[in-house]
Amino acid sequence: VVPGFVDSHLHVRAAASVATAADCAPARSRQDVLAILTSAVAATAGRSWAACAGLEPALLKDGIPSLGELDAASGAVPVRIRHRSLHGWLLNSAAWRVLDLPPVDGWWFDHHGELGARIGRVTPPGDLRAAVANLSARLLAQGVTAIADLTPATTGEGARALRRWRAYGLVRQRLIDYSDPRGSRFKLMLDPASGLLGTREVLRRAWAAGRQVAVHCPDLESLGLLLEAVSRVPGRERGRLRVEHASQCPPEWLPLIGELGATIVTHPAFVFAHGDRYLAEDTLAPHEWLYRLRSWLEVGCALAAGSDAPAGPADPLLAWRAACDRRTSSGALLGPLEALPAETALAAMTAWAADTCDLPAGRLRPGLAGDAVLLTGCGRGAFDPQKAHVAGVIAAGEIQ
Ligand SMILES: [Zn+2]
Repeated sequence: VVPGFVDSHLHVRAAASVATAADCAPARSRQDVLAILTSAVAATAGRSWAACAGLEPALLKDGIPSLGELDAASGAVPVRIRHRSLHGWLLNSAAWRVLDLPPVDGWWFDHHGELGARIGRVTPPGDLRAAVANLSARLLAQGVTAIADLTPATTGEGARALRRWRAYGLVRQRLIDYSDPRGSRFKLMLDPASGLLGTREVLRRAWAAGRQVAVHCPDLESLGLLLEAVSRVPGRERGRLRVEHASQCPPEWLPLIGELGATIVTHPAFVFAHGDRYLAEDTLAPHEWLYRLRSWLEVGCALAAGSDAPAGPADPLLAWRAACDRRTSSGALLGPLEALPAETALAAMTAWAADTCDLPAGRLRPGLAGDAVLLTGCGRGAFDPQKAHVAGVIAAGEIQ
């Protein structure tokens, strides 16, 4: 019996809606994309939108479909195709019309989530509620009893929806929310345009107001900017800092980040789900810098695991295995020196993740939450994540 898993970084709305969208991940040409789109349009059967997700343009041999091609394949049905990174959208003319915006031919990158929020407002609420309830039930069956939503937002709309879903019982996990831009915890998307001084000021103001900041650091540029900016805030003025993703980190930055007292929230399952793609990309070399685990602990950082769903698979056992064996889906090794012992990886998914999210969970101890998972196939005495599977879940003291 282990504590309930805490997913310390995911996106409830996006994970729910991607789970119901047609999957573009297998597409290798624009014809493939249009074929997936045509079936998605046929499947809408009178519902308002056709949704596709998971499109990786780098895998298409002849580029993405043009606005004209999207229109020809979809007619009057509004269509949205989401970039694999979740930050970009391809829409047809009917969709731009519904959103009351001038049509754009090609990707629209939406780093602050405004277009996503606008799309959310025109999606039938019943569709989204059913998708959220499905997602929550699936996570609970896998032993996830607490989640943190790290969706960046410029309005409190997403946060209000999350509170409603939790209050109505559609989200059954304990929930911590970073998606309210005025909340006591918030997600900060670094804007290189605001530069070092602008970034330092945002951090100082947030900490002076006692707010916890979770900073989006998906690449070297953002991690470098954050490191510079935080080191220019005097130690006594610094507050709690979460570094999200920390996808790439050179060895010489590790001790510097350790000195900041930061918590690293990263995604062990990315090694399994995306590792083969990373290994094929020379621009991501040296690959030992990617999605580190053990190095963070060695330099004294706190560590917590999250799925980043829908950008990665929401499957705690898969994440646990990947944290221990660092194998991609084809079996290749990615940064094997970053592997964690099974019990340490489990702590990053339970106790340490709960600490990071201020949840009274993550440990089996009197006075804490009655969230637990019964694992079988683990072997006696020591945990073996390769063989474990979930045989039962207790959430808030109730057998699920
Ligand atoms: Zn994320």
